Amino acid sequence: MAAPCRGATPVPPHEHPRLTVLSGPSGVGKSTVVAHMRTVHPEVWVSVSATTRKPRPGERPGVQYHFVDDDEFDKLIANGELLEWAEFAGNRYGTPRCAVLERLDAGEPVLLEIDLQGARLVRQSLPDAQLVFLAPPSWDELVRRLTGRGTESPEVIERRLEAARVELAAESEFDTTLVNTSVEDVARELLALMLHPSV
Ligand code: ADP
Ligand code: 5GP
Repeated sequence: MAAPCRGATPVPPHEHPRLTVLSGPSGVGKSTVVAHMRTVHPEVWVSVSATTRKPRPGERPGVQYHFVDDDEFDKLIANGELLEWAEFAGNRYGTPRCAVLERLDAGEPVLLEIDLQGARLVRQSLPDAQLVFLAPPSWDELVRRLTGRGTESPEVIERRLEAARVELAAESEFDTTLVNTSVEDVARELLALMLHPSV
């Protein structure tokens, strides 16, 4: 069993400050939007996930992700330390549970940037969460962004595009869609949704 989270006392859902989940296909620009949000609105608390994926150039431990190996990830699961986790395109990703619950209990808005499977799991465990879907302006633009990022091999890009078809088909499960044409606009709209939820 995981150690209880400090301050994470159960409260009725309507008294919970809102948790906002940002999801969308790989390459749509989620990390770019979150990085912009961190720069312009450092007061917004963004969860840092654990992942077994290797860091990309420029990614720093504890900033974009907590980079862990398979054994460490197994332990996080076994100890109940993850609010949710999922396997995505060959790697595992999970949201540290205590940090999120403590922030919510402290009354702070919280942002998670996670995949579709994770968004569905959060909806089950925290039904009050607001799910925001980040959509590309078009399929061709999504392919251009994912390929243009230049961080994955052609095989991994293919795998991520396969997942993208599934993720795009699930858009209607989300409370709101934002189209990522302009990073600045999306970050502004996302912040507004976090402060004044649409549902
Ligand atoms: P994700 O985190 O969703 O996988 P990234 O944030 O890594 O996507 O963005 C993928 C690529 O698309 C990056 O090269 C990024 O610079 C670019 N990008 C993100 N948002 C936009 C945008 N609004 N217009 C043009 N390019 C964008
Ligand atoms: P990337 O490898 O491109 O950083 O992330 C791949 C996918 O994993 C993205 O859809 C991203 O949103 C998702 N992801 C990142 N962190 C988590 C997490 O903690 N849980 C889940 N379920 N997905 C995550």
